[in-house]
Parts: sequence; structure tokens; C-alpha cells
Amino acid sequence: MPVLVIGSYNTDLVIRCPRLPAPGETILGGTFAQHHGGKGANQAVAAARLAAAGQVHFVAKVGDDEFGRQALTQLRAEGVDTTGVRVAPGQPSGVALINVATATGENSISVAAGANEHLRPADADTALADAAPGTVVVLQLEIPLPTVLHVARQAAARGLRVVLNPAPAQPLPAGLGADLYALTPNETEAETLTGVRVTDAATATLAAERLHAAGISRVVITLGAQGAFWSDGTGAALVAAPAVQAVDTTAAGDCFTGALAVALAEGHVLPDAVAFACRAAALAVTRPGAQASLPTRAELTG
Ligand code: ATP
Repeated sequence: MPVLVIGSYNTDLVIRCPRLPAPGETILGGTFAQHHGGKGANQAVAAARLAAAGQVHFVAKVGDDEFGRQALTQLRAEGVDTTGVRVAPGQPSGVALINVATATGENSISVAAGANEHLRPADADTALADAAPGTVVVLQLEIPLPTVLHVARQAAARGLRVVLNPAPAQPLPAGLGADLYALTPNETEAETLTGVRVTDAATATLAAERLHAAGISRVVITLGAQGAFWSDGTGAALVAAPAVQAVDTTAAGDCFTGALAVALAEGHVLPDAVAFACRAAALAVTRPGAQASLPTRAELTG
């Protein structure tokens, strides 16, 4: 069954430089690279590499510019159905400017949301109306909150399962929980949403209890190298991450959410879907880059 991702696309412009520039300072001697990013696009590509052909659909707004055209070409090459990706007239694509200090690995990032800010509630209506029964709808918070709330409400009303990755974290309105199948925060997002400092399974249990009390039925909290903790109100457990040599955890969370959605769409129960997502994300962290690190299904099963 299909996965429908509704979210952001950003072009990441990365300069690796000797150190991060101070305010007003110019630093020479860097190297430049351009990457496809944005949580929505990362999760769509993560899902497309793991799902059967033609099963992943993406709804987004890209800019009326070269970055937007490159995004569409690349998403299609990844096997993502881009019927729902629109160009926002006169708007630039979302851009993240990333400086990385080569000596320390520290970074500084500024993001201009551009076309992402113009993804309106109605932009998702056709994709939702066309979604097959059993579709898993995946949302994040890099698009306007009214769009997220509308999609969740419409999808739930159609009996579709909604997975919300609440990143970047922000307070969520009461009532949203009733429209969600599952919420997938990382440790810091779980803390923002619950006030509980989440560091391990015990504190994740407490955070999950608070989220259940707020009306969210299923919670999956990612815990980095520890793995992921799931709780559905009737059961709860920590799924340990496979032990790997991590070289770059960028997009680990996006890989996890994309993989979780694929496994749920394929009919797996939550604990099995979490285990599948942990295996996918563990492979992603062994390789550098964001989308470049995302595994294929053959790599996971082979
Ligand atoms: P990021 O912001 O780097 O994309 P995140 O903070 O959203 O990640 P994490 O909780 O750090 O999310 O990682 C997501 C998942 O990736 C974890 O639940 C785990 O399954 C996997 N993972 C992360 N780090 C490691 C690691 N060192 N070894 C194995 N698996 C890992």
C-alpha cells in the first residue's frame, strides 16, 4: 500500500570551511557542495528507496527557479511520484545555507523556507482524495502548521493512517492527537512536547505517557545510538539499534520515519515496523551525507 509524504523540499548549499565565520567575517579556503534536502523530500526519498516501485507520492511546493527544476528531476529519478509537487509562481525554492568547520565538525545553518511557506491546505486535497485505502500519510513541521492540521484531519476522516514527525519541534494544538496514527519525535522534540528530558527508555516511557494523556495513541521516540522506544498504550519497548560504526547521523531521523511508514504501509505491526526502521537508519549512519546515505531495500534484505 502507498505512502504519501506531504512536506518540505530544500536545496542544501554546504561550504566546508577551516572554521565558522564570526559575525562580519569572511573566510576563504572553503569547498562547496549542493545537495537535495528538506525533511519532506528526505523522507520521501527514504521511503521510495525501500518501497515497491510507484508506491511513494510526494506533495510539496518548490520554487520557480533552477533549484525547483532540479528537485523535480531528482525526485522522479528516485522513483517518487511528483504529481503533487507544484511550482510556487514567483517564489524561490527553500534553501538551507550550511557552514561546516572542517576542523571541529561544528556547523551553522540558516534556512529560507521560500516556496515551502506557500504549501496551502488545499494543495494536498487532490492527493488525499486520490489516496488508496491503507495509505500511510507522513507529515513533518517544515510547512505551515494549518496545512499540517488540515491534512491530518482530512486523512484521518478518510480512514488513512497519519504519521507525524514533529520536527522542528513546536507546541502542537490539543485535538491533533485524535487525527494521528503515530508521532515520531527524537529526544529533543519529545522534551519540547512533554517537558520531560528524554535520554533513555525510562524517560521515554514518561514522555510517552504524557503524550498518550494528550490524546496521541502511538508514540515512537528515536534515541540515537540506543535505538527507538515505542509505546501504543497497551505495550511499550525499546528496540535496540544495531551496533554499527556511525560516521554521519545526518538524516538518520528522516530515514527512520520514511522506513517506518513503508513498513506500516506493508501491513507490519508497530513493533516490527520500528525494528525495520532501526535497521534502515543504522545503515544510513554508517555512510556520509543526507539523502546519499539512505539505504535501498536490496541493501537491507541482501
Ligand atoms: P538527525 O537529526 O541526525 O536526522 P534525529 O535526532 O532526528 O536524527 P536520532 O534519534 O538521532 O534522530 O536517530 C534516528 C534513528 O537512527 C535512531 O532511532 C536509530 O534507529 C538510528 N541511529 C542514530 N544513530 C545511530 C547509531 N549511532 N547507531 C545505530 N543507529 C543509529
